[in-house]
Amino acid sequence: MDQKVKPIIFLNPVFKQMIWGGERLGTDWPYEIPGPDTGECWAVSAHPNGDCTVRDGAYAGKALSELWEEEPALFGNFESEGTPKLDRFPLLTKIIDAKSDLSIQVHPDDAYAKSHENGSLGKTECWYILDCEPDATLVIGHNAKDKEELAAMIKEGRWHEFIREVPVKRGDFIQIDPGTVHAIKGGIMLLETQQNSDITYRVYDYDRLSGGKPRQLHVEQSIDVITVPAKPAAECIKDAANLLKDQMNLLISCPYYQVWKFDVTNMVSFAQEHPFLIMSVIAGDGEINGQPIRKGDHFILPCGYGEVTLEGRMEIIAASI
Ligand code: ZN
Repeated sequence: MDQKVKPIIFLNPVFKQMIWGGERLGTDWPYEIPGPDTGECWAVSAHPNGDCTVRDGAYAGKALSELWEEEPALFGNFESEGTPKLDRFPLLTKIIDAKSDLSIQVHPDDAYAKSHENGSLGKTECWYILDCEPDATLVIGHNAKDKEELAAMIKEGRWHEFIREVPVKRGDFIQIDPGTVHAIKGGIMLLETQQNSDITYRVYDYDRLSGGKPRQLHVEQSIDVITVPAKPAAECIKDAANLLKDQMNLLISCPYYQVWKFDVTNMVSFAQEHPFLIMSVIAGDGEINGQPIRKGDHFILPCGYGEVTLEGRMEIIAASI
């Protein structure tokens, strides 16, 4: 394997200040944050609203979107039979620090986004809970039994009846399909892997003001796209806190991504055989093929990278398509 040809692509995150954000990305994580209301770290993103740059090496300073365009071989983005070339980097990895509750929202699927949002992609996303209070909850799903009741509950503001809150704990992994009503509650830090899309329909924002005005709600679009009845909560959540050590543990495989977790306590070796592999170190430190890595590092192993050895004591979330 020639590592000069196949470098590890470390990325510089982009930070987003949000009315619900906090300081923990600067205190619990090794980042320089823009302010005490930093809600999101876009850790691996080629989205125009937050395009990460390469940290070092031959591609230093280049935006991930540019690298994707100019070096498709790094991402295995070839034209081949049955699989057309992708027109954009397909995934987005974020770390979210919710000091207070996020709005209650829902994302459309690809078909709805394509026809209603200028050809944008829909959004399927998943969450790994990095940290939370012992009694933390998330909003996942709703209690309406049919579309009629859904529309009535939303239009009449019957939020208490409508919203389904479920308890969560550190290490839980949650898949959010399009059409699933969801909200991250205050006190939760999580890592999100999602389709590269920013289309969100806000159902309810707790009547909060941002810059003196309420943020826009998308009531009609929400009623259009929300799945009724909601999938049982237990089918969306799995416990990923205590997985087998020193191996690649698959958390989810869906049409848009696969996500794995590594709990490295000594050493693990595997072959990077995916079109590309995103890796985010979420705890501890160690080495990848002899190169030091630590909590807060995010990098991409390119197509054909070959044998990978992780050593140390660390937890890593990995994703590919
Ligand atoms: Zn979402």
